[in-house]
Amino acid sequence: MLHYHTITVTPFQQNCSLLWCDQTQAAAVIDPGGDLDEVLAEVQRLGLKLEQIWLTHAHIDHAGAAGELAQQLGLPIIGPHPGDQFWIDALAQQSQMFGFPQARPFTPTRWLHDGDTVTLGRSSVQVRHCPGHTPGHVVFHSPEIGRAFVGDVLFAGSIGRTDFPQGDHEQLLASIRERLWPMGDATVFIPGHGPESSFGRERRSNPYVRDPL
Ligand SMILES: [Zn+2]
Ligand SMILES: [Zn+2]
Repeated sequence: MLHYHTITVTPFQQNCSLLWCDQTQAAAVIDPGGDLDEVLAEVQRLGLKLEQIWLTHAHIDHAGAAGELAQQLGLPIIGPHPGDQFWIDALAQQSQMFGFPQARPFTPTRWLHDGDTVTLGRSSVQVRHCPGHTPGHVVFHSPEIGRAFVGDVLFAGSIGRTDFPQGDHEQLLASIRERLWPMGDATVFIPGHGPESSFGRERRSNPYVRDPL
């Protein structure tokens, strides 16, 4: 069975999650944007074996410390989708622009595509490609625990920004309706920023993506 714990990192208050298999303590960190000391203190406190870095997309608040962490602990970086290569290339520039510690460049060990599966201990998690906020954005879905880690695709009461290079509002709406909603109304999602919610609740009340009456 999978468990998770979310830590808020960076001045952008980004939700970095530790996800682990309780039979093996094998853990992945999703979106280590920064504050590695705090993230690693939680890994220690929870008694986890950190084995993988998973990225939803390559914005600085999500991927800023991925290269450093991979280097320090010799971990593979899994994701995002190749559409985000240009954002990875821009990480150093993003860190300067937003006053983040200089991001260490990296190449993902494994790019992700729609329909892929990633394995953690004795569990596996489904990958959906959800472009719109960035072209290479992916979402991690665990049907086993009814949770989805959606990065900046969807928030409680809002949706991701699309006013970036290669952002696309219509594509983002399609990603949400065609790739997130089929995960089921009861699925609870952990967004990149702010509180958790469920897809059912957003379908009823989110002004950007609610179902027509
Ligand atoms: Zn973002
Ligand atoms: Zn973000």
